[in-house]
This record gives sequence, C-alpha cells and structure tokens, in this order.
Amino acid sequence: MIKFNHSGDKMKIYKAYKFRLYPNKIQQELINKTLGSTRFIYNTMLYEKEKLYKENKMTKQKFDCIKELPLLKQTYPWLMEVDSMALSTTIFDLGNAFKNFHRTKNYPKYKDKYSKNSYRTNYIKNIYKNKVYENIKLDIINKTITLPKLKNMKIRGYRKTKEIKGRIINATISKETNKYYVSVLYEQEIKEKNIIPKTIVGIDLGVKDLVITSFGEKYENKKYITKYENKIKNLQKWLSKKEKYSKNYYKIKNKIKETYKKLKNARNYTIHKITKEIVSANDLIITETIQIKKLIEKKEMSKYLSDASLSEIIRQLEYKSKWQNKHFYQIDTYYPSSQICSHCNNKNKELKDLNKRKWTCSKCNNENDRDINAAINIMWEGLINNTKLFT
Ligand SMILES: [Zn+2]
Repeated sequence: MIKFNHSGDKMKIYKAYKFRLYPNKIQQELINKTLGSTRFIYNTMLYEKEKLYKENKMTKQKFDCIKELPLLKQTYPWLMEVDSMALSTTIFDLGNAFKNFHRTKNYPKYKDKYSKNSYRTNYIKNIYKNKVYENIKLDIINKTITLPKLKNMKIRGYRKTKEIKGRIINATISKETNKYYVSVLYEQEIKEKNIIPKTIVGIDLGVKDLVITSFGEKYENKKYITKYENKIKNLQKWLSKKEKYSKNYYKIKNKIKETYKKLKNARNYTIHKITKEIVSANDLIITETIQIKKLIEKKEMSKYLSDASLSEIIRQLEYKSKWQNKHFYQIDTYYPSSQICSHCNNKNKELKDLNKRKWTCSKCNNENDRDINAAINIMWEGLINNTKLFT
C-alpha cells in the first residue's frame, strides 16, 4: 500500500512491507489472544453504540469508547494481557467504519472467527535518561522484529530490503490459515523536484490490449488473466442458480474467492511489469480517466473485471510516477479521444462503431489505428493542459 501526503515541496510517502512471521508457541498464543481481544472490543463497542442509538438516539464517539477501555479491562482482566495499543486502534477502526458508512453505505458488521484476522499497533518512541525505547523494532540485517508484548521474532519474505527506510508508523499482525504475517508501515519524506519532461507518453486503455501507447506499443491482456476472468463469470452464473445459503452455494462462493485471489496475483504481476516499463521510460505520463461502475448485474461482470484491471494500471502509473519524481496527468472523461483524427484534428462525429480496429478520416483520408490514434490524442490533450511544466 502506498499513500501520499503533500506539504510544500516535501512529499510524504507511506509504504507497507509485509513479512512472514515466525512466532514460537507462547508468542502464537499471545497473538491469538490479541486477535480475539480486538474482535471482542470491536463487537462490544459496536453493540454499545447501537444500543445507545436505539434507546436514546445518541451517537457514541470514539473518544468516549476509548475512555471506557480501563473499565472493560477491570471487568475482563484477560484484556490486560494483550497489547493495549491494539485495543485502542480497534476502537479507531470502528469509528472509521462508521465514518465510511456515510459514504460507502457498508454498515459495520460484527466480526466472527471468519472475518479478516488481524490487529494493528502504533509505533511509540520514548527517550528516558538518554535511553531510547521503541515498541516496534525491525532489524533488517538479522531478520527479526520486536513487537509490543511479543518481543523478538524471526521474519522472512521481503527481498528488496534496501528500499526500507524512513520511520515506522505502525505494524499490522495477521493470521491467514495458520500462518502469521506482519506488515510494517513506513513513512518516507522525499523532496519534490521540478523536472522538465523530455519524454511524453499518452496512454489508451483497453480490453484486448490493456495498454496502448502513443508510440504505438501495445501490451496485450494475458491469456491466463482472461482464463481466470472467464472462470469467475461461469462460477457466478452457477451461483445464481443455486439455492441461497445451501452447502453448494458456499462451495461455489469459496471457489469464486479463490479464483479472485489467483486473478489478482496474475493481474498484479502483469500490470507491475507494464507500469514499471512505462514510468521508467517517460517523464510525463498521460492517461484517460475511466469511471468505475459498481457491479450491478451479473452480466456486467466482465466489464467490472476489466475495469478493475484498468483502474489498477492507472493507480500504479500514478504512484510510480510520484515515486520516481515524474509527472502524471489524467485527461477529462468526456474528451472524445477516439473520434478525433490525430493526423488532421478533425472530429469524426459519424464514427459510432467503436469496435472497428481501423477507421478512415472523412477529412484527410488517413487510416487510423483506433487505439494508437486515441493514445496520440490523449498525449496531445495532456500536453496542452500541462504547458506550465515546460517553463
Ligand atoms: Zn484526419
């Protein structure tokens, strides 16, 4: 996960590094206990919030919840055994879930054993009598991590350790099918440089070819990705025919989940390669803006899946550009990049059949490749809107 935060010419980048974690028996027990405790806090607070609202039409704020923690610890002493920071972070998460609910309409759900099994703890640094105390310590050389209450544990997994720098913000400990992981979030500060772009690329996004550049390069959608996409579509069809909540219904649901995971991995691999190549070769990267529709009907599944790929490409191009101090720009959604002839600038309004791979301009008679033509137009449109970069 990467996030940005600008202030002046300094930019803060947040990046998470995930490792496999090797806790011993006692440490495993404590992690499991912490997972259970955070779930307990989450559910208890959710229940209390709902009760207060039902009975008094009052909302409970997260700081009110935090204040109740000591009392809860008295009632349930086992809560004292686990990392207290993890408990308060859970309360903040619940608060955020309610905040997001107004926007996403996803009402916070009670957590059970099958919910996402993880907890987060924040980094704290104390200096006492010239001694530095830190609750999270990552030792890259010896491949160990120290976490609150857990002490030292072996880690494995992330190879490009030279990348890891900056200051630790928090750590998320998770358990997936009896394996333990830790994801450490770092904050890095980089100074933004204003480079004048020397190489500029326009990018058109598609289905058969995922990416088409204004240089005429095409990156096709890999067959194995389409294979997974089709499998999901078929499973969805099956699912709709099964009786809801029956044994088979869950069986297919699980299969869909598994295939999604495979699809995501395959897609990420391909997309990372494409975006890496484009960003390292260009200084100004211009793309279209695609609107992601929510999945409304099953028959829109394929559109939904390909949109997901395309929005991931845009997301990666954007953060990799920032990461490397390059420029990134998205043109307006309504810019008619596929109708304009990149040769003479004439708008071919009569051009309706967007499935045609090639078309001839009614004014200059130039034969245009649909996608490359669009990519060139996108490049020009981005260039016109970014002339300030060249001064
Ligand atoms: Zn023309």
